[in-house]
Amino acid sequence: MAAGWAISRPPADRHLRLLQAGIFAAVAAAPDLDLIVQRHRAESHSLGAAAIVATIAAWRLWPVAGTRGRIWLAIFAAYATHPLLDALAFDNAPPIGIMAFWPFSRAYVQSGVDLFAPVWRRWWLASFYTHNAIAMIREVAILAPVCAGVWWIRVKGRRHKAKGRSVEPV
Ligand SMILES: [Zn+2]
Repeated sequence: MAAGWAISRPPADRHLRLLQAGIFAAVAAAPDLDLIVQRHRAESHSLGAAAIVATIAAWRLWPVAGTRGRIWLAIFAAYATHPLLDALAFDNAPPIGIMAFWPFSRAYVQSGVDLFAPVWRRWWLASFYTHNAIAMIREVAILAPVCAGVWWIRVKGRRHKAKGRSVEPV
């Protein structure tokens, strides 16, 4: 959502604002739908996939921004944060990393920065809930301030613009 808002300001209308936030969140979570087809962290976790989804969004005029160009950029940014953040998470299941540069490369890349803890799917282990709860708290502690900060800056900017104190184009 923060990446989307950085490109396209949250609209003043509450309904549109919720719709925009929902689309950004859904787009950013969408790469993990690859779990359904047992092809996790492959093509769906790439800049190529982000470009494809952004192109569909711009073509279908998804209600996240005022122009096709800005829709494309906002959706690309929202989608691309998923592979970016995955690349910043500790990965212990081969192939290590994500196929970030598909279709130009099928290599799996990993940043080596273990900013986020891995999410365990082995639910039968005793420490499953504790481990995942801590991993989730860590993610929220890192990402919520970023999200709130971008929101605050963008909404504040909109109010300034409305009062005629800003000459920012969008
Ligand atoms: Zn993922």
